[in-house]
Amino acid sequence: MKFTALKASKLAVLTALASSALGDVFDTINTYPLATDSVVLGHEFNYASDNNVNRLFQGNKQWVQQVKSQDPNFFQKFARGEDPKIMWIGCSDSREAVESITGTKPGEVFVHRNFGNIFFEDDLNLLSALDYAINHLEVNHIVITAHTHCNAIKYALDRNPVSDLIDNWLRRPQSVYTDFRNSVDRLDKTFGEGVISIFNAHQSLHHLVRTSLIQKAWKRGRKIAVHAWLFDMDTGYLHDTKFSVAGPQDLDPRARWNV
Ligand SMILES: [Zn+2]
Repeated sequence: MKFTALKASKLAVLTALASSALGDVFDTINTYPLATDSVVLGHEFNYASDNNVNRLFQGNKQWVQQVKSQDPNFFQKFARGEDPKIMWIGCSDSREAVESITGTKPGEVFVHRNFGNIFFEDDLNLLSALDYAINHLEVNHIVITAHTHCNAIKYALDRNPVSDLIDNWLRRPQSVYTDFRNSVDRLDKTFGEGVISIFNAHQSLHHLVRTSLIQKAWKRGRKIAVHAWLFDMDTGYLHDTKFSVAGPQDLDPRARWNV
């Protein structure tokens, strides 16, 4: 459906959102004269022509039916809000599908993923999610989960330029590799990549627990433990790397804020 510049006001859209069923809202939105509609010619996509994406809608319908058959009131509770007690920081890799590999349900794990599960102190995206998880959801655990066969780690170890943005993004796992290069280069290549994946998760953990964000929460008495895990794609098993930080007592004084 093309956007047609009907005289619908923003207020009308908000009113429709507040009072109507979603189908009516979509009709209203589709006729809303967006400021950009002279340069962006949006239209309804024919998903039937590409089953790779069309099957997501089919799968979604099956999921809804399956969930409702087990619990007819599921979506009434679902829509009320989320109350997860675990935050997962993982790799964007399509195989690190949190609910599937952990047997959890939607609503149980608050998830943030990026290419290589890397924590940067100036990543506003990750920091905002972390702030929300700590101060609003009040999670008790934050898990940084690396995985084997990670392309971010492979790129970091290869040192061959990929593209300007990716090369810059991967500077942290590259520095981890530099620190341990003498040992890692003696290992089998795949095993060495796995080792750097773990050390890279530890590095992200190091930077996360040094933020004032989590240290202030600890100071207020919040129980939050930060863990580093590894998802082994050769076996499907999730492993604890036995490197957790559960409070300021686990930090050297040099890493503590006076909060
Ligand atoms: Zn990855």
